[in-house]
Amino acid sequence: MAPAAPAKKPARKTAAKTASTAAGKPAPRSDVERRLLSLGLETPIDFALHVPLRFEDETRNLPIASLQPGMTAQVEGEILRSEVIQRPRRQLTAVIADETGELGLRWLNFYPSQQRQVTPGARLRARGEIRGGLFGREIVHPRMTRADAPMPTALTPVYPSTEGLPQSVLRKAVARALQQVELRDTLPQAVLDRYGLMPFEPALRALHQPPPGGADDFLHERSDPAWQRIKFDELLAQQLSLAAARAARRDKRAETLPLDTRRQGLVRRLYQALPFQLTDAQMRVVEEISADLSRNYPMHRLLQGDVGSGKTVVAALAAAQAIACGAQVALMAPTEILAEQHFRKLGDWLAPLGVTVAWLTGSLSPRQRRAALAAAADGSAQLIVGTQAIIQEHVVFHRLGLMIVDEQHRFGVGQRLALSRKGEGEGGPLAPHQLHMSATPIPRTLAMTFFADLDVSVIDALPPGRTPIVTKLVAESRRDQVVELVAQEVRQGRQAYWVCPLVEESEALQLQTAVDTCETLRQVLPDLRIGLVHGKLPQAEKAQVMKDFHAAELDLLVATTVIEVGVDVPRASLMVIEHAERFGLAQLHQLRGRVGRGSAESVCVLLYQAPLGMVARERLRAMFETNDGFEIARRDLAQRGPGEFLGTRQSGLALLRFADIETDTELAEQAREAAAWLRRDHPEVVQAHLTRWLRGREDFLRT
Ligand code: ADP
Ligand code: MG
Repeated sequence: MAPAAPAKKPARKTAAKTASTAAGKPAPRSDVERRLLSLGLETPIDFALHVPLRFEDETRNLPIASLQPGMTAQVEGEILRSEVIQRPRRQLTAVIADETGELGLRWLNFYPSQQRQVTPGARLRARGEIRGGLFGREIVHPRMTRADAPMPTALTPVYPSTEGLPQSVLRKAVARALQQVELRDTLPQAVLDRYGLMPFEPALRALHQPPPGGADDFLHERSDPAWQRIKFDELLAQQLSLAAARAARRDKRAETLPLDTRRQGLVRRLYQALPFQLTDAQMRVVEEISADLSRNYPMHRLLQGDVGSGKTVVAALAAAQAIACGAQVALMAPTEILAEQHFRKLGDWLAPLGVTVAWLTGSLSPRQRRAALAAAADGSAQLIVGTQAIIQEHVVFHRLGLMIVDEQHRFGVGQRLALSRKGEGEGGPLAPHQLHMSATPIPRTLAMTFFADLDVSVIDALPPGRTPIVTKLVAESRRDQVVELVAQEVRQGRQAYWVCPLVEESEALQLQTAVDTCETLRQVLPDLRIGLVHGKLPQAEKAQVMKDFHAAELDLLVATTVIEVGVDVPRASLMVIEHAERFGLAQLHQLRGRVGRGSAESVCVLLYQAPLGMVARERLRAMFETNDGFEIARRDLAQRGPGEFLGTRQSGLALLRFADIETDTELAEQAREAAAWLRRDHPEVVQAHLTRWLRGREDFLRT
């Protein structure tokens, strides 16, 4: 068995045990401990690996005359005067002077003790960023110490912290850990030599106590040998864990589901029934999947393709191949609307060919539910489509050969874990093949190097005959014109979506906005048939509205973001997104992808409320400038970091703390090579390294 995998469950139990006493009562923890724990700091090695964000130079004082706005500096001098002023709001101001000049100090919030500290005549040190204020240079919220306190001799580290946890506490805890912990090198000398890495202990110590001078550059560039070493170790741990997961998968057995090439075979008949020809890009991924299905270990493949690239039909062909071999297929989608749409579409394609398709979601009546569960269990349902209800424990399949997950990035970590457990075949001898689909394009290197144990297929072209979507940015003040545009579009026999604003604070408010918007639009566009769909609508009504819109019995669909993913109505050619500035970039791209699915020229109107903040402006600009999902993903990554892609937002656990997925690809490649080498020649190193770096967090890498 692969080294990393068995540690998984026991490691968790141990963690749970340390958090509670033998009697099962939670162990008392101090506030500080709790806060440290929230930063992932528990054992000495955790602290040792908690490296500073930046450093402060408290080792020297600068002459006040030499200060330039923008620099961070420490000065020492005498307080000349101080006062509390009331305008524009209550604040404390003071002036400190040395032989060379004067510097302003200002506190917008302050304690009486701070006010007392700056009495005229006191000799103090002040530290902080120099600003060029209206009345000369100043520091806002300076950190103050008495001038007779000893001067530190080393740079002072500033650690990533959390509310209510002072730097002084962190510094002490880290310093203590660095004395206690044994920082033995997990890597053999041969590895260090080959990749030119410095030893672990000096690298880590240097990160906590860098040589004086240039420390901030050192931290920002992160190209120093000490950094390279830490990043390499982190990436190596990740690669080792992935390799273990991959090996574990190859050790598992899956049913071989080879392609039936007979003329009357199901797959062949499905091709014939399709209203279109597959694109070359689709053919290529279909072949990759088909080959995987014919192997005797489980497929674990991510099918990536921009919104509208035609992933559903690829899934249908994979399902047909499995069903033709007598296996069952389950397809899971993140929303009921999407699941329902798949149920209908796959039903339309496959039912006429004699395939039984069942439907399983949380909102079925008890009777329907029993029927669906029975059909899954006795094998009479060959394809089961549904929401996450499909992976609940009591759902038993007769002979599950293939599990398809659409919009897989939308599922939380917990759901993905449940899925991977179902995917392990629940103790049976055979595990199902897994096909994950995602329209959120993950940069390829990211997917290969940082994502779980997945092979990746990419549909890199859209079906032919699509006219690119035109994106328009329109200020809220010109809303009337947008309403007119909707009317025009409908007059030409087309359909439109109107997406209501996101209201982060309150779901109830969001709902109300949708209801109000729909009402107003009905008043100003009395000739139009307008439907409303939102998350709180009972499933049957939701389904009915979507069905009416599909059947063109509605002209305009007012919706919340429930239509964000997957919805496919080719006749809809206009998308209006209200308060577009409130949405994230990936979300806007997904929403826009609901149009441009037919041959008509499609328009996406981003209605925004001026004035725009910087970030919102960048986002809308990106939407305006490109339709390319990969480019959008790249910009999104630049703006927000990778958390979203990896689904770590829900888990709150960043996978990579040190390495940078965009710039450290070469290092990641080396780590990948080293992982293979270590697994082959130094298996004893593998476990030691994983224990140091992951401590039972492998689960997150595997999902
Ligand atoms: P997504 O990849 O976003 O899930 P869909 O599978 O919903 O995309 O496909 C988008 C639309 O394109 C659907 O209406 C689908 O029927 C259609 N489509 C898929 N493949 C082709 C093709 N090769 N030629 C023409 N239309 C296609
Ligand atoms: Mg889709």
